Amino acid sequence: MTLSQKLLDDATAWRRTFHAAPELGFAEVQTSQRVADLLHSFGLQVHRGLGGTGVVGTLRVGEGPTIGLRADMDALPIQELGQCAHSSRHPGAMHACGHDGHTAILLATARHLSETKSFRGTVHFVFQPAEENLGGAQKMIEDGLFERFPMQAIYGLHNWPGAPAGRVIINPGAMMASLDTFEITVTGKGSHAAMPDRGFDPIVAASELVLALQTITSRRLSPLDSAVVSVTQFNAGEAINVIPETAVLRGTVRCLQTPVREKVQQLLGEFVEQLPKAFGARGALQYRVGYPVTENHPASAALVRDAAVAVLGEANVQWGCNPSMASEDFAYMLQACPGAYVWMGVDGVEPSAALHNPYYDFNDQVIEPGVRLWASLVERSLPV
Ligand SMILES: [Zn+2]
Ligand SMILES: [Zn+2]
Repeated sequence: MTLSQKLLDDATAWRRTFHAAPELGFAEVQTSQRVADLLHSFGLQVHRGLGGTGVVGTLRVGEGPTIGLRADMDALPIQELGQCAHSSRHPGAMHACGHDGHTAILLATARHLSETKSFRGTVHFVFQPAEENLGGAQKMIEDGLFERFPMQAIYGLHNWPGAPAGRVIINPGAMMASLDTFEITVTGKGSHAAMPDRGFDPIVAASELVLALQTITSRRLSPLDSAVVSVTQFNAGEAINVIPETAVLRGTVRCLQTPVREKVQQLLGEFVEQLPKAFGARGALQYRVGYPVTENHPASAALVRDAAVAVLGEANVQWGCNPSMASEDFAYMLQACPGAYVWMGVDGVEPSAALHNPYYDFNDQVIEPGVRLWASLVERSLPV
């Protein structure tokens, strides 16, 4: 497979343009316009408006099966601290997760395949909004992504600091954890701080609860199951001499298996219901179910592996890895359609800054292996 230098140079320029003008979730107005314009200029059929700013470009070459390739377009509410010619011009917003790179790779793949037409069938290039926390993938699905564009499989790629540039990492099962959030209100009885016996202290009850919740993972789940329960906010009290009426805890739950996730939710409910009672207080739980586990379909994952080995070599493909306890809304797409999600390393001579770090900048050297991987996957999935 030969990719022209012109293609890679253009893709690098697109990537830097996106990086300089980052837009937050569901506000990817200019980005989405640019994506649509480029897809149109490559001769693809362009569909807009799914999930608000989402774009689908369709490339059809004869009769054959259909697959989808997905990139995310949104940036993060982070002030960029790195200094370069293409640093963010939008205060308080930056591409700290490399979605500018994912978008450029997918655009370059669309242009490459529109020129080579080296497959038989249909490819839907899916550009989604709002991956970070807001569930743009789910919005596109609600807007009929898989009904309007039926496909046999869908694939997503994420850059991965900590692995060498271009290294493909993929699992035949879970890649990323589920993401749920919770808010617990512990209500006691407010009183004078010097007379605690006249009330019921919600701060002490909530403090016990914070510690007790850690026993869900350490004592109630099997040591072989994976879950994280993190209380990340503890709000109570206004004055130094007042025991308040309420204390509010917020936090997040991450799991790698759906049954474990259900068990954690149930145990959390039991702790919140029962433990504050011992302190004369009562607890109320609001549990918000968020992104599912990002779980690859084994056959699709194996196809990605083979496509990667064919164009990047065995040494650049890692089959099997520890999943990440971070989360990804591509999980919704994998619930609705077979497919797989793959990581690609981005470390150059210097290691990449971490994802969501204010110094992060997508490594443009990864555009080439990214396009090779996608093009190879299309050619294998939709053979001539
Ligand atoms: Zn991110
Ligand atoms: Zn990301």
